[in-house]
Order: sequence, then C-alpha cells, then structure tokens
Amino acid sequence: MTNTIVPVSAPRAATPGATLGVRRLPSTGLADGALADRFDRPMRDLRISITDRCNFRCVYCMPKAVFGRDYAFLDRDELLSFEEITRIARIAAAHGVEKLRLTGGEPLLRRGVDELVAMLAELRTPDGRPLEIALTTNGSALAVKAASLKQAGLIRVTVSLDSLDDERFQAMNDVRFPVSRVLDGIDAAHDAGLGPIKLNMVVKRGLNDDEIVPMARHFRGTPYTLRFIEYMDVGTSNGWSLDEVVPSAEIVERISADMPLEPLGATAPGETATRWRYTDGGGEIGLISSVTNAFCGTCNRARISTEGKLFTCLFADEGHDLRALLRGGIDDEGLSRAMAGIWGARDDRYSEIRSTLTPELRAARAKIEMSYIGG
Ligand code: SAM
Ligand code: SF4
Ligand code: SF4
Repeated sequence: MTNTIVPVSAPRAATPGATLGVRRLPSTGLADGALADRFDRPMRDLRISITDRCNFRCVYCMPKAVFGRDYAFLDRDELLSFEEITRIARIAAAHGVEKLRLTGGEPLLRRGVDELVAMLAELRTPDGRPLEIALTTNGSALAVKAASLKQAGLIRVTVSLDSLDDERFQAMNDVRFPVSRVLDGIDAAHDAGLGPIKLNMVVKRGLNDDEIVPMARHFRGTPYTLRFIEYMDVGTSNGWSLDEVVPSAEIVERISADMPLEPLGATAPGETATRWRYTDGGGEIGLISSVTNAFCGTCNRARISTEGKLFTCLFADEGHDLRALLRGGIDDEGLSRAMAGIWGARDDRYSEIRSTLTPELRAARAKIEMSYIGG
C-alpha cells in the first residue's frame, strides 16, 4: 500500500486577519475574554510541558544517539516554576482555556507534580467552573503516583503504550522498561478514578504496525480507549519519512477485517481523534490522523514549553518567550494582552500544508522536539 496525504478542506475563515483577531479586549482592566485567531479558532486547550527529561528513550522521540549522556537538559532555574505555570494557566483560563494537559518529557519525573496539580485545580473559568486537568504519561510511575494525583485534583490520564509484547516494548523504550509495569500503572490509575483513560499507540511502519490488531483485541471490552496515532514529523531527531506512516484508513481496515468497526461522531469541538466503534458493542477506538487527515481547521491548542515559551502549533518554528515577560516583572494585564496578541496573530496550519512542502522546507519547519514541547 502506498501512502497518500489526503488534502483537507480550507479552514473556516479563508482570509487571515481580514476581520478577525482578538475578539474582546477591553481598553482598561484585565484583557480577558475569549480569543479567536486569524482563522477564527478559539484557545481552549493548554498543554504544558513541565520537564524536558524522560526516563525512556523511545526510538521515535528521544533516540539515545541524540539524547545520550552528554545531552544538555535544562537547568532547574530555566524551568517555569509552579507559580509561573499557574499564573499563565490562570490568564489562559480568562481567555477561554478549559482544559489543561501536563506533559513533557515525562511529567511524572517533575518533583512535586501533585502540588502543581493542586494549584491548577484551584483555577476557574470566567463562569466559575474548574478546569479539566489531564496528564499524558509513559505510565512508568503511575502505580506509585496515581492515588496522590487523583487526590490533588487530576481528572484523567492518557497513557502512551506502543506495544504489548515485552521484548518489543523494551526495545522501543530503549531502557529495558517492562510493559507489565506500565499495565500495572494503567490499572492503578483506573482504580484511583483517573478515567476515562485513553491509551495512545504511535504506529510506525515496520516497527510496531504488526501490533495494531493484537492491541485492538487486547483492549476491546475494557474500560480503556485505545487510540492509534500516525507517526509525525516532529523534531529533527527521529529521521521521519512518509513511508513509515501507517495511514489511519489502513489501521481501520486492518482491525475491521477481524473485528468490524463503524464510524462515530465527534464528541467535542476540536476533538483530535476520529472515533470508531465495534459493531458488536465491544467499545470504541480512536484514530489521530495528523498526517493523512489534518485537523488544523478546528485546532484550539496552545502549548507552553518547559522553559516557558508559548507555541501556537506543534510545528511552529519559534515560541513566544513568556518566561522573559514573567521574570521581567510584567503585571497580569500585560501578560494577558501579550497572550491575546500572540493568539490573535496565529495562522498556523502546518499539517494541512505539509504535503505542499519540499522535504527541505519540512525539515526546516518541523524542528521542535516532541519531548520539549509535549504531545
Ligand atoms: N512522556 C509522556 C508520554 O510518552 O506519554 C508525555 C510526552 S510524549 C512526547 C507525548 C506523546 O507524544 C506520546 O504519546 C508519544 O507517543 C507521542 N509522540 C512522540 N513522538 C511522536 C511522533 N514522532 N509522532 C507521533 N507521536 C509522537
Ligand atoms: Fe519519553 Fe514520552 Fe518521548 Fe517516550 S514519547 S521518550 S516516554 S517523552
Ligand atoms: Fe494544530 Fe499545528 Fe497540529 Fe495543525 S499542525 S493541528 S495547527 S498543532
């Protein structure tokens, strides 16, 4: 089967910046209120990378050849403090963010992560609702941390799991971490009430695509929703090639041949996964088709890197340095205006234009590492 990139329709507002931009910016007081970017997309979801370190060396994300002993990770004082993270999240909530996702690196490696969760759990939307706080993890420390995270106010976790075969799993994480400990962590998170739990499997052709059907079979009928993620060209470390992407359509085809599936509608605006369910009632799966069916048109995600840069796209070539503003003594109103201005100018839609770029242009764009900006 050859890989094709399916073009998607243009975003809703076709003329960037014509009439859109920041919707409501009062001339006095805190510049709060919902934002819209140049394609009229709101900011709803904030993903915060809380460490650039990880105890795994997944071959497609932090290959040892790049992230070896000599790799210079950030120093502690370069990371945003919990107070700084909470302040940014508070302003983001005033601008319409309803979901926070802690990520990394491996977020459970950040000391005191439950203290941070507790601070974020205090935040409210303008109409007084708590934010939904989620975390994406490799699951290695969940068995130990699930209960305290729940107690701190974490709502749910997404766990990355690329293989059920122990030999394969250990080869993929490249630190000999056994899959059984991740499976125990997933169960601990479920028992602690951190659900509904989603399991993310990045599929790379020739590496783990033979596990698509076994993974689907294993998690069918369980409380866990398995989601298949097309391997993406993030960063420069993984030597991405289109031939290694298994298109979601092929994934559905392969599973359906064994366990028939039918499509389901989206649950929330900006939902990244398309959902399918087993026709016999065995539950559902998700497909995240960032390569073959881009969802830029509804992308409402902002990202904060470990050192406090605001990125408006996973593939943005640079971030906006909020840490410099925070440490320079900016007040809440100034920070609010800065964030509103950045979002108002946003016109990113990399996944939609990927197929029009030459490999050189693509490499120049897709250079922020996933472990730095978070998934
Ligand atoms: N360490 C945590 C984990 O693995 O869940 C959180 C950070 S990790 C960078 C977030 C997600 O990005 C993981 O689900 C991982 O599989 C995914 N990811 C990393 N590199 C990727 C790539 N090149 N294409 C698609 N997904 C990728
Ligand atoms: Fe670490 Fe997650 Fe990247 Fe794997 S995918 S190396 S667990 S940050
Ligand atoms: Fe959003 Fe950028 Fe991904 Fe498009 S490529 S869905 S704009 S993060």
